[in-house]
Amino acid sequence: MPVLDQQKDTSADRLDEALSRLNEAQRDAVLHAGNAPLLIVAGAGSGKTSTLAHRVACLIAKGADPQRLLLLTFSRRAAQEMSQRAGHVLAQVLGLGSQTPPALPWAGTFHGVGARLLRDYAVQIGLAENFTIHDRGDAEDLMGLVRHDLGFTGTEKRFPLKSTCLAIYSRVVNTQGGLAQVLAEAFPWCAEWEAQLRQLFGAYVEAKQEQNVLDYDDLLLGWHEMMGEPSLAAQLSGRFDHVLVDEYQDTNRLQASILQRLKPDGRGLTAVGDDAQSIYSFRGATVRNILDFPSQFGQLGSAARIVTLERNYRSTQPILDVSNTLIAAAGERHAKRLWTDKPSAGRPQLVLVPDEAQQARWVADKVLAHREGGLRLKSQAVLFRSSSHSAALELELARRNIPFVKFGGLKFLEASHVKDLLALLRFAQNPKGRQAGFRVVQLLAGVGPATAARLLDAMDESNDPAQTLQAFAPPAAAREQWSDFAATYASLRSGQAAWPADAELALRWYLPHLERLHEDAAVRRADVEQLVRLAAGYASRESFLTELTLDPPEATSDRAGPPLLDDDYLILSTIHSAKGQEWTSVHVLNVVDGCIPADLSTGSNEEIEEERRLLYVAMTRAKDHLHLLVPQRFYVTQQSAHGDRHLYAGRTRFIAAQDVKAFEEVVWPPPPERPPAVPAPQAAIDLRNRLRAVWR
Ligand code: ATP
Ligand code: MG
Repeated sequence: MPVLDQQKDTSADRLDEALSRLNEAQRDAVLHAGNAPLLIVAGAGSGKTSTLAHRVACLIAKGADPQRLLLLTFSRRAAQEMSQRAGHVLAQVLGLGSQTPPALPWAGTFHGVGARLLRDYAVQIGLAENFTIHDRGDAEDLMGLVRHDLGFTGTEKRFPLKSTCLAIYSRVVNTQGGLAQVLAEAFPWCAEWEAQLRQLFGAYVEAKQEQNVLDYDDLLLGWHEMMGEPSLAAQLSGRFDHVLVDEYQDTNRLQASILQRLKPDGRGLTAVGDDAQSIYSFRGATVRNILDFPSQFGQLGSAARIVTLERNYRSTQPILDVSNTLIAAAGERHAKRLWTDKPSAGRPQLVLVPDEAQQARWVADKVLAHREGGLRLKSQAVLFRSSSHSAALELELARRNIPFVKFGGLKFLEASHVKDLLALLRFAQNPKGRQAGFRVVQLLAGVGPATAARLLDAMDESNDPAQTLQAFAPPAAAREQWSDFAATYASLRSGQAAWPADAELALRWYLPHLERLHEDAAVRRADVEQLVRLAAGYASRESFLTELTLDPPEATSDRAGPPLLDDDYLILSTIHSAKGQEWTSVHVLNVVDGCIPADLSTGSNEEIEEERRLLYVAMTRAKDHLHLLVPQRFYVTQQSAHGDRHLYAGRTRFIAAQDVKAFEEVVWPPPPERPPAVPAPQAAIDLRNRLRAVWR
């Protein structure tokens, strides 16, 4: 008994010690107990995510079962980071030394957790367990097919594009609004097509069901529907004692509604967010979720507890000053002014450069200068509004051999050869998935859409799709390749080869096709081999396909080498993908009107305000050095009644003339100095006289 007591004391001491590093408000939030739901609403860098990680660790240290904690974050990367942070604190508190702390099996994104629950409960909700998931590209393609089948492509007036149709559909689902309302608010130019769109969406849903596929929105919608059935809701709610959500400002109505069904009285619920950083309303996220939290969750049970944090631990005061000024001009928001005791003499820089090429040069120079000064490349980041803005910089970095990794750019999975290989695995997983099937079968020489459709119809009706494929009479040109294809498919279907051997088998089948179809096969081959290497990190084909679709590898690295071979590299990232992160030095490219805010003429007031918050997010990523780049010659396209016009951009409207003085202004290259006046030299010889003298 005394031993136990002693242990208890030491672990309590260790907990106290871990908590002593937090400030009082943070500690309050970590230790919050009782029935009331908890909302932490606070500014950038004030330790919201740290507080959440400490709370998780503290709950477990006090006996909560990690299996019964649901932790929802914005990306899988964020979930991993959070697990690490919590694990670190936990290891300390439990005195684990080098032992691994307990894992958090239910840490992930809303979509990832949704997918897992739908598969777990597939039988009870009438889904086939082997459903596959369409990414946005697949979903658009299917929408396009259905749109074509319904004859909407041949309409006299142009029917909305497939991407627009999917965006409308997705917005209806995620905002839980009616179609008419969504059209009026966000797509007024499509309002005349309401009846046709309704028909299209109905057919789209049927097509997905026939193919046994779900799209991203279905993962949330399905979870939400499950929670609408009392018996399932009771089971699911009973599974989790605590539900903790980071970045709550970027959740949408549907996600809030899922939470409400999960924890109707708010008991055990913790949400964390910053209204000033809401940057996803274009995807249906609503900052109202944060504003309405107290009334939504605090009513049935105890009134919600709200904790605010104003002390910033990330940035220097001069960086906070310019960030505070920027956001103070925003419209509706929780007023908060961040402060820090990290003083600094250095002001953030506003750097005027002639154009994008010079911008790239300046940034590369500065990055190297910082490295000379002892800053690793990894603690430096270059952020930009849209992925294409880093093109000039990427060239410059490659030229100078500065390794970098880019987040939020073209996804690895969007490359057609990577899609081919994945399609084969998907088709084996779910023979009803027509998109995947169509893609794979047409890789064979001599197989076109008509043959592919005939084969897929036959397989669809068969009890043994692999056998049907084997027995199918292909066109003459494909006959030779057919038996190999059929054998590979049969083997993948039978599950003879264990995972990840499956992936290698698929690769072996695909490589000859890759060689035949692409002139640059060697470069592409490296990608598909990389995909197979990735496969080894997953437990099964199903988990590989699901996770990859839900959270594709975000980073594409410099093509010069496979990702992450260099142990130090510069981070390039879109601002959206930089959420929640921090670096010692941050460069923001193209801080000009037309870029931030992105559109000069069509943006509504709300959209422009979202752009302001985006710049705020970018600026508040910096710890010690912030450099905003303003290229003087930066063309932006403005749509006008007379067609597109190209304009010179100027410094972003979000930094007003009177606010510039808070920055150190740098003009580069510096204006040429006048050469000092050189006094006329005294002639050493009198040449003219000598030349004349020759003839005297
Ligand atoms: P964002 O709004 O950008 O997501 P955040 O509020 O989640 O930011 P964190 O990322 O949790 O902030 O913390 C910012 C930085 O401050 C981190 O480096 C963290 O380690 C540090 N920090 C947080 N709380 C404290 C504290 N009490 N003492 C010292 N450092 C702290
Ligand atoms: Mg955070």
